[in-house]
Amino acid sequence: MNQLKQSRRFFLRLFVRAAALLPLASLVRANEAKHPDAKWAREAERMRALAESWGDQSYGAVVVRDGAVIGHGPSRVVKDRDANAHAERVAIREAIKAHGAAAVSGAILYSTSRPCALCERAAAASGIARMYFGANTEDAGKPRAFN
Ligand SMILES: [Zn+2]
Repeated sequence: MNQLKQSRRFFLRLFVRAAALLPLASLVRANEAKHPDAKWAREAERMRALAESWGDQSYGAVVVRDGAVIGHGPSRVVKDRDANAHAERVAIREAIKAHGAAAVSGAILYSTSRPCALCERAAAASGIARMYFGANTEDAGKPRAFN
């Protein structure tokens, strides 16, 4: 009888300790997944300023994963004489080159303007989970493959 009580007490204590850790775990998860975040919109603005500094089209984008920028995208259309070098695709390409396709799948794309249809398709193809644009981080949703 006494042993049963001790055992019950042990499991009760274990349960209470585990339960106490739950809010902490969800807080950490919530922090990791905090999107949109205005600081990434500012990073996209920084990329736009960079593009403007070399006389390019006024667009910028970044790919964000696990609290860090993994792809930088100043527009390079004029600089590289490449009609496909929109800020968003530059950012996605850099992220894939530097971190691999698996890292980009599930990442978040921030851009200074709403991504055009071609960039949205590229985002969908690379598994970008969500797109935000502008200084007010407007939600452009999950990129669609056909639009
Ligand atoms: Zn585009």
